[in-house]
Amino acid sequence: MKLGGFQKLSLLDYPDKLSAIIWTIGCDFRCPFCYNKEIVFGKVDAIPQEVIFEYLEKRKKLLEGLVITGGEPTLQPDLKEFTKHVKQIGYQIKIDTNGSNPTQIKDLIDNRLVDYISMDIKAPKEKYEKLAGCKVDLKKIEKSIELIKQEAPDYEFRTTFTPKLLEKKDILEIAKWLKTSKKYYLQQFEQKHPLISPAMEEAIPYPTEYLQETLEEIKPYFKECGLRGT
Ligand code: SF4
Repeated sequence: MKLGGFQKLSLLDYPDKLSAIIWTIGCDFRCPFCYNKEIVFGKVDAIPQEVIFEYLEKRKKLLEGLVITGGEPTLQPDLKEFTKHVKQIGYQIKIDTNGSNPTQIKDLIDNRLVDYISMDIKAPKEKYEKLAGCKVDLKKIEKSIELIKQEAPDYEFRTTFTPKLLEKKDILEIAKWLKTSKKYYLQQFEQKHPLISPAMEEAIPYPTEYLQETLEEIKPYFKECGLRGT
């Protein structure tokens, strides 16, 4: 696995679990609001996976989960072998994905190598390519959504409420698209630097009240629904 980031402890990134986080290098999307630019473009020092295995082995009594994020983890050809090894040590695994690779997602689910999937829903269908910053095969995105809804042991969908590019009506569109899903989170846009699109670095996050107001309107579409990062 090409790894470019490692956080030894997180209380927030794996729901209800103490976890470590790793970032895989490379992504097939170019979301203008992405703040993991160095990871996406591989401008980071690689971390040998043995370092991660050793740490997980040492901390297995304290930690419960490993979050694999990126970049896009499902682009890594040896993700399956890696997750198998982490499972053998005794961890639960959460994977963050953009949903562009349903075949890899299905393989992980079928082999019980993932316990929680968090998929980014970038935009309503007609704006998807704009928010992903590249050509997107929407059929694959739809396939991943259905697969995750039907077969993932646990999951959530989430959208970054990007100012300038998304409005309340877009979030409502997404909610209708995903309706009956178990969990959906609306994330506040983070004004970090550098972002993939320098133009987005000047964007001002929407006020919390606007996120709250939007949340109230989409709540009926989901079993569980909330805000993040506000
Ligand atoms: S936000 Fe977009 S570009 Fe950044 S890692 Fe996720 S999918 Fe890739």
